[in-house]
Amino acid sequence: MSDCNETLKELYLYLDGQLTEDDRVHILQHLDGCSPCLEAYDFEAELRIVVKSRCVDQVPEALRARIANALEREA
Ligand SMILES: [Zn+2]
Repeated sequence: MSDCNETLKELYLYLDGQLTEDDRVHILQHLDGCSPCLEAYDFEAELRIVVKSRCVDQVPEALRARIANALEREA
């Protein structure tokens, strides 16, 4: 599992939507066989969802629409 540190670094970029499709496949393949990394991934992914939903709850309607658009583009 010498790949773990590299994968965790890529993981943050992955969650930010900054990786290519090839990088994603590489990470997902690693997560498939490595439960510590998979747990880290689950935690980070969940954290980001919470942060995003809190942001969306607390902003005015116009800004909320802009965030929603940005999130859509990211997805
Ligand atoms: Zn790993």
